[in-house]
This record gives sequence, C-alpha cells and structure tokens, in this order.
Amino acid sequence: MHMSVERFSYLHEHEIDDWMNRIKHSFRPDVQAESEQIRKAVSLVRKGAFQGFRFLQGVTTLVATLADEGEQTVKLAPSVSFRDCTCGEGEWCVHKIAVVFQLYSQFHSLTEWLHDWQRRETEQMALTVSERTPEAWNDVLYKLTKPLREIGRGDNPNVFIHESSLMDQKVIPLSPFEWEWKPLFELFYRLHLLDAGWSFAHEHLEEANHFTYRQWQVKMWLNEQIEKLRDIGKSLGKKPRLFETDAFYTALKSQVREFALRNEGLFEIRLEIYASMWEFLYKDTAAQEKELARLLDDDSVDASFFAAYFNLTKGDEETLAKIAERAGGELVGHWLPLADLAAEMEDAGSLAVIMDTIFPHIGAFFERISFSTDRYHFIRKIDGLLEEADFPEKRREELFMIYGEDGVSAFGDFLIERERFAEWAALMHRFNIPYDGLEPDTLKFVLANDPASVMPLLHTYAMRFIQEKNRHSYRRAVRLFKNMKAGAKKSGKVDFWNRYIDTVREQYRRLRALSEEMEKGNLNL
Ligand SMILES: [Zn+2]
Repeated sequence: MHMSVERFSYLHEHEIDDWMNRIKHSFRPDVQAESEQIRKAVSLVRKGAFQGFRFLQGVTTLVATLADEGEQTVKLAPSVSFRDCTCGEGEWCVHKIAVVFQLYSQFHSLTEWLHDWQRRETEQMALTVSERTPEAWNDVLYKLTKPLREIGRGDNPNVFIHESSLMDQKVIPLSPFEWEWKPLFELFYRLHLLDAGWSFAHEHLEEANHFTYRQWQVKMWLNEQIEKLRDIGKSLGKKPRLFETDAFYTALKSQVREFALRNEGLFEIRLEIYASMWEFLYKDTAAQEKELARLLDDDSVDASFFAAYFNLTKGDEETLAKIAERAGGELVGHWLPLADLAAEMEDAGSLAVIMDTIFPHIGAFFERISFSTDRYHFIRKIDGLLEEADFPEKRREELFMIYGEDGVSAFGDFLIERERFAEWAALMHRFNIPYDGLEPDTLKFVLANDPASVMPLLHTYAMRFIQEKNRHSYRRAVRLFKNMKAGAKKSGKVDFWNRYIDTVREQYRRLRALSEEMEKGNLNL
C-alpha cells in the first residue's frame, strides 16, 4: 500500500501524541531561546519547508528532508521511539520538532496546541520555585501535590492515579536545571506525593490483604513511589555531596521523620520508606544517635518502633529490650516487620526479644485475621520466627493450642518432624480431618515408622468409606485395609489383625460388593 504522511500519522497517532507531550514539557514559553525554537519549528511547517518524505519498510521509518539553513534529514521510527537528525544538535533540534509538528498537523490543529502550550505555562507560573532553599521547594511541592489530598476515600482510584500522573508532568519544569540537583528535588517531590496521597492509600489498603482491582491499583501506585524513592536514595547515597545541599539534606531528614511519625496506618510501608532513607542517605553514626535520641523523646506511639529499628540495625539487643518493654507487645503488626528484619540479619538475640514481647498478644491478633488463608500463613510465619529465635518447643506448642483448626496443618508438621506419631494421629482425629486432607507422603511416613499409632485413624477413614456405600469407596476402604495389614505385619500383630479384619467382614456380610472387593484384596495375614 502506498504510504503517505497522512497515513503515517494515522498509524502512529499514539506515538506522535507522546512526542508532542515530551516537546510540551521540554520547552518553556518564558525561556526565550526555547520559545524561539518552537516558533521556528512552527514556521518551518507553515512555509512548507519539507522537500520530501520517504518511508522505509521493516521498522516503519519516516525520512524527511528539510531545506533550512542547509539541507537536514530527519529520521523517525515511532515503533522503536527512534529519532535522528543530520544536524546532530541535541535531543530536540528544530528539524525533529518540525517533522513531529508536520505529522501532528495532519489530524490536529497546531495553532491550538501552541495556545495550550502557552496557557499551561501561565498556570504553571503560579507554581514557581522562588529560590533555591528547602522552604521554597517545600512550598511549591506542597501546592503542586495538594489536589491529591482533596480526593475522597469514595473516589475511584483512577481519578487518584490520573491526578498523580498529571503531577509527574507538572513537576518537570519545576525541577532545577543542573543534573546534580535534579535527583534531590525529585526526592522531595516523591515524599510530598506520598504524604499527599497517604490518607487515600491508607484508607484503601489498611488490612486489605485480598485485593480488589481498585485496591490493587492503589497498591501498585504505592509500590512505584517507594521504588522510585529507593532508587534515588540509593544513587544519591553513592555520590559525593555538594556543600550547598547540606541544608536540603537536613530538612529532608526531619521531613522523613514527620512523614513516618505523623501519618497513620500501613506501618510496614512507613518503616520501609523511613529505613531506606536512613540506609542510603544518613549513614554516619552521630546522625543516627541523634535521630534515635529524638525518637525516644517523641511521645507518639510509633516513635518507639522506629527507635527499635535503629537498635536492631546496630545489633543493640539490650536497648532494644528496654524499648520493647516500654512499647509493649500489643501492636503485633508493628513488631512483625521488625522481627522479619532481625531474622534477615540472623540476629537471633534481637529476634527473641521481639518474639518474647509479642508472644502474649499473638492469640488476640490471630483472632482478628479474617481470611483463613491469611491465618494459615500467619501461623506458619510466627512458628518460623519462633524457631529462628530458638524458642523452646513447649512455647511453640502453646500457640498451636490457641490456633485450633487453622493450625492443624502446621502443628501436624511440627509433630511429624518430632516423630510424635500418636499425637499426630490424635490431632487428625480431634479436628476430624478427612482422609483427603492428609498429605499422602505424611501418611506413608507414619505407616513406615509407627504403623500402630495410626491404626485407629485409618480404621475411622475405612468405616467412612464403607458408609458411602458405593463400589468406588469400597475399593478405597480395601486399599486402606491393605495399608493397615502391611503395618500390622510390620509391628508383629498378626493375630490381632486377622481378628480385626474377620470382624469387619462379618459385620458387613450383607454388603455384597464390599465382600467381593475384600475377597479380591486378600486381606488376611
Ligand atoms: Zn536537526
């Protein structure tokens, strides 16, 4: 098919829009050189400065030649977002812009776009960074992110995410021009964004482990912010600092603290943000000591937990114990991420302090977990942490008693590991665990090691199969009898077994199909 500029524009509408957006945010009408560049590109389009267009196959590529201050050739490949110009002048030379404008003008009004670009700047004028101080940065970033604070809990996350992505666009022209300053500015911006979006995110996500699509969207937004924050923090931590940035780092430090302490909910995420800033940006011991003292002086409930974080990273078990005593163990959800951290650091001593603190409150916390899969994971997690912390087995068992039926699987494994087979079988009995609820491997293991302990349990299952009164379940019953027979033989209970199986046969004599299956099974020893 013959390709024309019009068709090319039609096919790559989306990419052209994207280019237009990038141009919009890379050039400011109030900067004279930039404004002239845009005007010049517009006039190239208007006076028809193009000598011709060629279209190359494969990756769709457009080659345009412009007669302008000597001939220049621009190459654009939208599908791989490639652009190139023979003039070699920067990312957006006037020729590339002209070609994108030419494409855009096939279906849109360039004049309108130009108006929009200028108007946006007037709006943006309200948002200007008056001077390079943390206060001026905070001032403009607070204004910029304010609309996020005004989104209500009932609003759709799409609105929230759209608003946030608009801010990502609007913040670009506010950023300092020097590359050394850009990441620091973005750090301030991300923190403002998180602070402004916090109550929305918190209301949507608190205690929501089973995400609806809406919650999932908010969670993804939050993850993205944290990831960006971490990345910038990490790269800034590696670079030498300009002396002039000192005031900014000092301000940021207290902003991070305020963010962590004054916001509510999602403690684990607040800790993650706080910890990543301290891990990368404030490594010196003196600063950490000072921060710790401030936290201990703060009377908010959460301050103790951030203080505990510092003691943990320093391996100061003794001070951690003091903080733990002061804070108490009721806030199990606050302690758990710290316990994870201790386990990760293989600091069994600190982990034991934490687990000891929350131990009396685990039952009450467990009661409030509403979904059974969450309860299941919670039980396994807690027991794993107790094991890491070298807790006596007796205390681990105490908790299994509290969990009841939800803990059967974990407690069952616990008993099997200790070869307490009779207790395992009793546990299965007590909670009436169906045959299909057992791990086949576990059953095999018990039969091989202590067949006698599991006989009463298997008898119960076999009787249940017989009650189902169909040939298929009779066969399952006979398979169980065979297992029991092998077990009886192994434990030398031949007489007992023969008496048992004869009794069963006699008892169900009238069930013809069962009698046949039992005959085929050759069940006597
Ligand atoms: Zn060029």
